[in-house]
Amino acid sequence: MAGGQSLVAAMNMKLAQPETIIDIGEIEELKILESNSNEVQIGALITHGDIEFCKNSSKLLLFLSTVSKNIAHTPIRFKGTFCGAVANSDPASEWCSCLLALDGVVEVIGQDRKKRIVDSKEFFIAPYLTNVGYDEILLSIKFPEINENTKLGFNEYARRAGDYAIAMCVSKLNMVDEKVKDGNIVIGAAAETPVIIEEAINFLQGKAINQKTSWEAAIIASENIKILPDIDSSEEYKRDIVKAVTYRSLLACS
Ligand SMILES: Cc1cc2nc3c(=O)[nH]c(=O)nc-3n(C[C@H](O)[C@H](O)[C@H](O)COP(=O)(O)OP(=O)(O)OC[C@H]3O[C@@H](n4cnc5c(N)ncnc54)[C@H](O)[C@@H]3O)c2cc1C
Repeated sequence: MAGGQSLVAAMNMKLAQPETIIDIGEIEELKILESNSNEVQIGALITHGDIEFCKNSSKLLLFLSTVSKNIAHTPIRFKGTFCGAVANSDPASEWCSCLLALDGVVEVIGQDRKKRIVDSKEFFIAPYLTNVGYDEILLSIKFPEINENTKLGFNEYARRAGDYAIAMCVSKLNMVDEKVKDGNIVIGAAAETPVIIEEAINFLQGKAINQKTSWEAAIIASENIKILPDIDSSEEYKRDIVKAVTYRSLLACS
């Protein structure tokens, strides 16, 4: 248990009934939040609130700080951790989509004290299931820092402020001469796991970002995702929301 904001809720609902709980909350070494010109490192006990109010000048952390405001409510944001959200791997977690879109890597350590790095593209397997073993924990998550040629955009739609999103989009676009070279367009909450929509990035390659190209890419994204409908939202509805959040996220990169 890190912040307990997902685990305790799951225990309340009898969805989790662990025999033993190990609270990692007091391990000082896991409270690191560091950045240099190349890399940002977020330790296992850094909370959503730490990111939201971080005074660091890192461009990536500044972006994450704006995303953080979409997670739950203030008290939860001061307990719940970035790495806990990624370990929990709810498809609607903002940090899971950011991990994938922003080319993060996850540092894990096993019971045998061996460390390994899991690339975000190999991290997610299914809802609440990741490539982290039962005898491993997350130590930290590392991201490459953003340079002046990279544009980032985020948008999500939830019924009420603080609710889990129905769909979200995180865009990372690497630009050359104001045109898209490559990058990631990641949709969260709408499918089993966060997914990169390759078709939308391929469409944008060599193009400038404006209302027309963003809308066309958004249509492509909504047509190329395997939607996971749920009790509140039909497949058709979610597909429409995917289109809207992708459009807004891309336009934020213009
Ligand atoms: C009302 C409410 C609304 C919420 N809304 C949102 C939302 O909009 N978006 C969102 O993303 N989240 C939301 N959350 C969840 C919240 O962000 C959690 O804080 C987060 O998902 C889990 O972080 P935690 O530190 O609390 O993890 P915990 O609850 O302590 O742990 C969750 C799971 O991850 C495992 N875990 C935790 N840390 C590690 C680690 N370092 N290594 C390996 N396994 C680990 C635990 O064993 C457990 O299985 C909401 C929660 C509540 C109660």
